[in-house]
Amino acid sequence: MRAKIVAGNWKMNLSQEQAKDLCNEVNNMQIGSGIEVYIFPPMLYVSDCKSLATHVKVGAQNAYPKDSGAYTGEVSMWQLEEAGVQAVLIGHSERREYFNESNAFLKEKLDAALSHGIKPFFCCGEPLEIREKGTFLEYVKNQLEESVFHLSETDFKQVVLAYEPIWAIGTGKTATAEQAEEMHAAIRSWIEEKYGKEIADNTSILYGGSCNPGNAQSLFACENVDGGLIGGAALKASDFSVLVAEETWTILN
Ligand code: PEP
Repeated sequence: MRAKIVAGNWKMNLSQEQAKDLCNEVNNMQIGSGIEVYIFPPMLYVSDCKSLATHVKVGAQNAYPKDSGAYTGEVSMWQLEEAGVQAVLIGHSERREYFNESNAFLKEKLDAALSHGIKPFFCCGEPLEIREKGTFLEYVKNQLEESVFHLSETDFKQVVLAYEPIWAIGTGKTATAEQAEEMHAAIRSWIEEKYGKEIADNTSILYGGSCNPGNAQSLFACENVDGGLIGGAALKASDFSVLVAEETWTILN
């Protein structure tokens, strides 16, 4: 059975005190049975959150693929491992767009994360013009082929995928449950072609893009949606608590 996951990407928000407070609030939430919760605070607060979190896992929003060296400003996967960080976001559209991260570079990051035992949350998703052109399935398949599908079965089993249509991130425009399910089902079918049915059935594929208490139930009820990668709604404890609650996952199922 694949894991159900709700993950909060705090992006470059919050003061240190606010981050610690939010971490404590998330840690004390009533989490539905079998749901795994991750938080991805800004790098500077990862250690604080790690020492406070007992019921939720703490990841980093980014890391560099080389272990050490002259890469001013970067933090490596090796350093994350040493700090006990459990997960890392790779391929978020903001990194792809603002920091020019290519599919080839993301492949390096994925390999580095796995070699240090850090769970990668690999994000994929199409921009608006590709959605409108109708070539979104091919676009996302290509992202996966160029960054992820080289992995061995053993490595691939560690990966969580997140489908995040760029036009829905931080815009308040959510993909409909049908749009999300269409992509998630396609992703699962490509995994099956590459790694077989058992691995495909056990891979968690999260949806991300303006997911909030008002739309989470219908998204999480989709057969191939295994949870959410949450931005804006992860910064408000009252919203995030709804996304991790048992009722949000059971009413429509
Ligand atoms: C994200 O950045 O991963 C995200 C899904 O953001 P939002 O929920 O704010 O759209």
